[in-house]
Amino acid sequence: MPRSVRLSLFLFFCLLWAAPSPAQSLSPEARRDLSVLATVYPGVLRAIEVGPGGRATVVLADGARLPYDDGRARTPETSEDDPDLKTMLAQPYPLGPVTAEPPLWFSPGRQRVQAFFFALYGHDQAAVRSSLKPVRFFNQSIPFNTRQGAADAFSRVAARLETLAAADPGIRKFLLPASGGMVWRVIAGTDRLSAHSFAAAVDVSPRGNPYWRNLPRGKNMLAVRRAFPQTVVAAFEAEGFIWGGKWAEFDLMHFEYRPELILLARLARGETPPLASVDGLLRPAR
Ligand SMILES: [Zn+2]
Repeated sequence: MPRSVRLSLFLFFCLLWAAPSPAQSLSPEARRDLSVLATVYPGVLRAIEVGPGGRATVVLADGARLPYDDGRARTPETSEDDPDLKTMLAQPYPLGPVTAEPPLWFSPGRQRVQAFFFALYGHDQAAVRSSLKPVRFFNQSIPFNTRQGAADAFSRVAARLETLAAADPGIRKFLLPASGGMVWRVIAGTDRLSAHSFAAAVDVSPRGNPYWRNLPRGKNMLAVRRAFPQTVVAAFEAEGFIWGGKWAEFDLMHFEYRPELILLARLARGETPPLASVDGLLRPAR
């Protein structure tokens, strides 16, 4: 082999060795967030393509390709309009009893990447309807999506609540009747689908639990939040649901299956739950 060819080969392998692998260039935050998604929604992430600077594109099981971080600057006010995956997971959901009024625009979970929800639960009303099963909730039957383990998680919540209500019947009035298991609808004033469209959210006692817009100005909002039984909130959170009562624009009746936010919250408080590795999903961007 001529010397120049040997030298070229040597340089080529040096470059190959020195170039960062996709695993090395993914930021720690992206690695954590994508591991969390891979853990709670197994099989939904098919590949993670990593480009220059660690820019990641997530390829979903339905073929959708979503940027983890699209690089767009967002203010808290606009983060709900068209978030990327990073924005969807950025506001830390506060686990446990409510202790303080959240800052303005702090509503973890209200940022939803709609294309991600299509991949999780179905692309249209017919697809979502084909995945429903009725879940017994006290004396009611609420349709819930079987995909992603949502219906089973809701069923476990119902069992926890029945145990709680047996000891404390006073909580029933905060829960019953419940509704909104499957309602294909856009959020008022937006063109975004509500979590109820995917049959992965429930409204407990919509008549009894006030929505922030319907409260008089000057009302002590923190007291209203805290009047809701925190044992009920804990029962939902234990099974991967977030509570709308923790949002700045609170929605006391609303519980939504968002196990990724609960898992991130557990990590943030130092717990070490098992996480799926994303190493096997990483590919260099084409
Ligand atoms: Zn709701």
